[in-house]
Amino acid sequence: MRKPIIAGNWKMNKTVGEARELVTALKDKLADVTDVEIAVAPPFTALSAAAEAIRGSNIKLAAQDMYWEEEGAFTGEVSPLMLKDVGCQYVIIGHSERRTYFSETNETVNKKVKAAHAYSLNPIVCVGERLEERESGVTKDVVKDHVVNGLADLTEEQIRNTVVAYEPVWAIGTGKTATPEQAQEVHRFIRELLTQIYSLTVAEAVRIQYGGSVKPDNVAQLMAQPDIDGGLIGGASLDADSFTQIVKFPGC
Ligand code: PEP
Repeated sequence: MRKPIIAGNWKMNKTVGEARELVTALKDKLADVTDVEIAVAPPFTALSAAAEAIRGSNIKLAAQDMYWEEEGAFTGEVSPLMLKDVGCQYVIIGHSERRTYFSETNETVNKKVKAAHAYSLNPIVCVGERLEERESGVTKDVVKDHVVNGLADLTEEQIRNTVVAYEPVWAIGTGKTATPEQAQEVHRFIRELLTQIYSLTVAEAVRIQYGGSVKPDNVAQLMAQPDIDGGLIGGASLDADSFTQIVKFPGC
């Protein structure tokens, strides 16, 4: 049985004070949740305050990105050692916004994923096609490229501790959600790829989240799909009530 994981990607939102306020509210509202793993990914500047505020709770801390080196002359970057030090257990890697605006490639994703594992950080690795790719019928080719190359050369233990987030780019921040059937088809495809690369046992253990305009009113249908094991939530994670409703989706 895979325990669902629902993570809030706050993107470039929330000052330190606002972050503290949001996690404090979530800590209270989500205290009774035991059957879903919960994580929040504030911006780097608010990680420390958020870590302090969620201490002792069932909410885990995630970062939105990192560099693959431990330290050195890499101005502006944050290392896996630093994320570990501040209390992160997860790190989002390869988000489509990083691929689009900051030249992230499968190669850099793979370096970051390996570095995350080297520091016992669990990567949440985003994969997914753009609208023109879906429309031209190459969704599975794109997703295969992201999975095979972004997750290349991981050990069985590392892939088990990796979360894959299927995020169709056309659904991120647009209000257009993939239908549960569209999402399930790609999630199934990802699990089949993992079966080919590793084994059925390993593939069955890997959690695959869906991301893309998940809201309180569509989460239950998505989560009812057999290969959808959670959600990566952007906009709706910025509000304590909507993120709480998503985490406590009906039927969970
Ligand atoms: C995301 O940023 O990963 C995301 C899925 O955003 P949204 O929920 O706003 O579409």
